[in-house]
Amino acid sequence: MPAPDELTSSPGAAPLRRAHSLASAFLASLGERPVSRVPSAEEMAAALDEPLPEDGSDPAVVVDEWFRRAEPGITASPGPRFFGFVTGGVTPAALAGDWLASAIDQNAGLWAGSPAAAQTELVVLRWLKELFRLPSEWSGALTSGATMANLIGLAAARQWAGRQLGFDAAADGLAGQPPITVVASAQIHLSAVKCLGTLGLGRRQVHLVSAPRGSVDVAAMAELLRRIDGPAIIVGNAGEVNSGHFDDLAGLADLRDAHPAGAWLHVDGAFGLFASVAPRLAHLTQGIERADSLAADAHKWLNVPYDSGFAFVRDGALLRQVFAVGAAYVAGGTGWDPCMHVPEMSRRFRGLAAWCALKAFGRAGYRAVVERCVDNAAAFARWVEATPGLALMNPAPLNIVCFRLIRDGLDEAATDRLNRDAVDAIQRDGRVFVTGTVWHGRAAIRAAFDNWQTTSADVALLQAAVRAVATTAG
Ligand SMILES: *Cc1c(COP(=O)(O)O)cnc(C)c1O
Repeated sequence: MPAPDELTSSPGAAPLRRAHSLASAFLASLGERPVSRVPSAEEMAAALDEPLPEDGSDPAVVVDEWFRRAEPGITASPGPRFFGFVTGGVTPAALAGDWLASAIDQNAGLWAGSPAAAQTELVVLRWLKELFRLPSEWSGALTSGATMANLIGLAAARQWAGRQLGFDAAADGLAGQPPITVVASAQIHLSAVKCLGTLGLGRRQVHLVSAPRGSVDVAAMAELLRRIDGPAIIVGNAGEVNSGHFDDLAGLADLRDAHPAGAWLHVDGAFGLFASVAPRLAHLTQGIERADSLAADAHKWLNVPYDSGFAFVRDGALLRQVFAVGAAYVAGGTGWDPCMHVPEMSRRFRGLAAWCALKAFGRAGYRAVVERCVDNAAAFARWVEATPGLALMNPAPLNIVCFRLIRDGLDEAATDRLNRDAVDAIQRDGRVFVTGTVWHGRAAIRAAFDNWQTTSADVALLQAAVRAVATTAG
């Protein structure tokens, strides 16, 4: 490889240097910059839209210009004060790995396309199984997120169910075949519902079982399963998104084992899987190792850049039945071909960011991140409980706090309005970012703690921003 001083004058160096300084300045500003400026769609279009340029421009100028024009719409979502949705940041090692992945531009679809990428992904998958104490023999793949991971797990489930019913779902399709029954918690994540639609199982066909406080009613699910003659796919939650409750996964695995026609247990552990990293929280995911398939995110609590997630399936042969391709031109590698286990052919080398992240933090580093986030969430929840005008909605054991503003004399509809307005006001204030939800029909506010950098000072800012709207809103 050439020496570094030869590189600074190479044609690609100037735009990379520009991107590096923009990125460094952005990262350095994460502590102070408004978390969002909440620009309108018109403002963003005015800032960025233009006809396709007929002629080219200097790449360094291009990078610079994009940043300047787009900046009002860049959120500080990797920063420590972004509590919206379930959002992770980026560790320094993960970021460096991700940049390098772009620079070396490996195609992580086939072993032959990049033996380094394929082997790295295998190692990352094994490390993740070790981190979460999952069975070492599970097959898996890195994905673009938990939605794709849900798709992979549920595709394997569909293939298994077809087999039970005497057909090959991937080869023959579902048309004219007996129906495949899906049962799930009423708190099933919308991404999993979307996957059921994509897979031809039907968004509307899933039988929902009530989950009054976020955790599915196992007795009610048992009752439902008793009325189902054929094989069933059970979808459970390890961390539902509104407030972070867990289904009784061991209970669901028992139901799976007891179902006469056989059943499959798929668990969505997008962020909740990370509870198993902290010994004091590991009871929450107890039974997860009995799942048939498991979906999780890396861009949330692993704190690697978007987009990144992972799926595990106990029986890897099912993945190959669904996703393998036999085209002549792809044959010939000696190692593992990732694309035989996922929907894509060509894919980004996501394994590098995850490898660097896991190597730099180790098990101890991730345990510390998870425990700190959960401690921050608990401290915030205690403050909500102790603060007049605020009410905790659904106290939960992990990293999400669901709460609402309340006022004497306000009816439910007015209280809902108060809370929706409060979310807008907090976002516009810009110190912190929270998002809203609806819990048991009532508008609520959520704060999720997933960022490796969030400190108690950031929690204090969150409290200040919430207190400000609690005293002025309405
Ligand atoms: C975030 C989330 C998803 C979807 O994950 P993406 O990475 O956005 O595709 C699925 N399930 C749960 C529980 C989640 O929190």
